[in-house]
Amino acid sequence: MFKKILIANRGEIACRVAATARRMGVKTVAVYSDADALAKHVGACDEAVHIGASAPKDSYLRWERILEAAKATGAEAIHPGYGFLSENEEFANACKAAGLVFIGPPASAIRAMGLKAESKQLMEKAGVPLVPGYHGAGQDPAMLHKEADRIGYPVLIKASAGGGGKGMRLVEKSEDFAALLESCKREAINSFGNDAVLIEKYVLRPRHIEIQVFGDTHGHCVYLFERDCSVQRRHQKVLEEAPAPGMTEALRKQMGEAAVAAAKAVNYVGAGTVEFIVEQPGGYDQPEAMKFYFMEMNTRLQVEHPVTEAITGEDLVQWQLQVAAGKTLPKLQSELKIIGHAIEARICAENPENNFLPATGHLAVYRKPACTSFEISDVRVDDGVREGDAISPFYDSMIAKLIVHGDDRAQALARLDAALTQTHIVGLTTNVQFLRQVVKSQAFSSAQLDTALIERERDALFGKDFVGRDLAVAAAMVWQLQREQAAQGTDPFSRRDGWRMSGRYERSFGFAYRGEEFGAGLAYGRDGQTYQVGVGDGDSRTEATLQWRALPDGRLELNLGGKRTVAVVHAQGEQLSIFTEVGSAQITVVDQLAHAGDTGHEGGRLTAPMPGKVVSFNVKAGDKVSKGQPLAVMEAMKMEHTIAAPGDGVVLELLYTPGDQVSEGAELLRIEVAA
Ligand code: ADP
Ligand code: ADP
Ligand code: MG
Repeated sequence: MFKKILIANRGEIACRVAATARRMGVKTVAVYSDADALAKHVGACDEAVHIGASAPKDSYLRWERILEAAKATGAEAIHPGYGFLSENEEFANACKAAGLVFIGPPASAIRAMGLKAESKQLMEKAGVPLVPGYHGAGQDPAMLHKEADRIGYPVLIKASAGGGGKGMRLVEKSEDFAALLESCKREAINSFGNDAVLIEKYVLRPRHIEIQVFGDTHGHCVYLFERDCSVQRRHQKVLEEAPAPGMTEALRKQMGEAAVAAAKAVNYVGAGTVEFIVEQPGGYDQPEAMKFYFMEMNTRLQVEHPVTEAITGEDLVQWQLQVAAGKTLPKLQSELKIIGHAIEARICAENPENNFLPATGHLAVYRKPACTSFEISDVRVDDGVREGDAISPFYDSMIAKLIVHGDDRAQALARLDAALTQTHIVGLTTNVQFLRQVVKSQAFSSAQLDTALIERERDALFGKDFVGRDLAVAAAMVWQLQREQAAQGTDPFSRRDGWRMSGRYERSFGFAYRGEEFGAGLAYGRDGQTYQVGVGDGDSRTEATLQWRALPDGRLELNLGGKRTVAVVHAQGEQLSIFTEVGSAQITVVDQLAHAGDTGHEGGRLTAPMPGKVVSFNVKAGDKVSKGQPLAVMEAMKMEHTIAAPGDGVVLELLYTPGDQVSEGAELLRIEVAA
């Protein structure tokens, strides 16, 4: 076995590889860019080498620099992870030329599977079933159009060099073909530097089912069963599971053997995945009628490999290292078995409500479900970030992968929902709530899977208020009162008698929730236990009783109108993030007076609560201001934050101009507060 390897990647996959290497007694070398100087993967390795600036082309794709780092540190092999250099034939060759082992397939196999069109020609020869289509070398637009007409619409035009869901165009009718071909070629040349395309029949209501294969240098090749990755957005995977629901033993064997044939056709070594598109002509209830077609082979470890690890009990990175070191595969086909069911959810910094637009920002709060980090267990979290880290625009928007295992699918689903409930992220927009809704949706929970599931379930997945206004308000009021009391050194909840002596206690608040601003009131009842809550103004006002207590771990136990909930509240400026069993919500405290005493100002120093942009100043030097008056507005992490006057006083100086970027804690303006 190797004594030391270099991991030519970052983020969760670099941490993932380092964990296995450590367990095997193999030393690791990390590489990192400027943006990653303090990243988790750097700390996860024994040594680290800086390889350049933040943009991937200046660091993680600079393979000459990476080879130098391997030489300088005495690493014997390089693990490329996924993405970056993992499917770069030239890099695999360069490793070999430099006397280093590339932990992956031979360069020739990468090349053979690198272009979708060429790999299909090879697969055709190997007898692997293909989607009806055209994958020849000819690229004359008129000829391609004729081919599309022959195949019959709808068809999919695919960039041969494409990947990551990019470079695909769905053509519904012949009239649209020419224009879509042109736009596909344009995207292909811009993204992949190669505008060759192929045409496939567009399979309706298909499933994406892929087979994990593994080969060694002694001519063995096995399959580690299938993964169903049908739940996708923008042709990218969202949830992945193993085994595929409804899979029959016969079809599993057929697909497994087809995948092994595909791998053998290119003398495959190491971990690879053969992706199939599966037609369901009989609908969801007739798996016997399913027909599978080769789509492409990914010549690397896949993002979703943990679900395979969970159902087989094998560590695929360990297999990779053993195979790369020249050993035989740890297990024969007959020794591999499926145990239970596993699902992976990709937690990403993105906004599902805005067409899954990626988000950036800092993980101000990042709480994970109870789990072991990578050992196979009921709940596993693979990530490359820690609380406080940034999700930067330079790299992928994936924050973490949550993997659960259960005896059966129902148990895995329940565990996934519980684990997602315990995942609290504040500071940037994520898809956590969206994932919970998908998991609970009728289609997913009853395994009616196809690649249009998210689209079909639209109504249940988007634009919904899961927590509810009144509960969000109740949690926000309780949290706010509690914080004020803590700041004043008294605790009304442990000293209820003190409150009762003053008779009735009432407070007014202002909130913004889901784009609406309204007032809310809390009245302390005479019984010393029950409060009266009023939410909303005018006709929309609702009234309910409220009881609460703070649990020792800081969570708030609430009973609103007879319904019990446990809530966790995290504050960021005026924005409160509330996490409950039913979901999470954000609510903004707009009542400036109620808010005085908050962070963001200490005496006359008014500072930025987080890094961001100054949007406006509402005052100028010399202005008289009163306590609670909004002074400046900042935009950070796609949210606006108002900086309010801590007391009556006079503005002395503005220290920035609108549009300026400021770092956390930067002093924005100075005021003199009247004594
Ligand atoms: P990439 O290299 O971007 O992963 P793939 O060829 O693997 O591209 O396709 C990505 C996704 O697009 C598939 O998982 C599937 O959802 C969809 N897709 C691909 N080919 C077809 C097809 N012929 N019919 C219907 N959907 C398809
Ligand atoms: P898979 O087919 O294995 O599911 P994807 O195509 O979804 O894989 O993921 C590969 C993508 O992951 C690459 O296109 C790249 O954008 C991204 N990526 C590469 N390296 C990393 C990393 N270290 N952490 C997170 N994402 C990465
Ligand atoms: Mg693919």
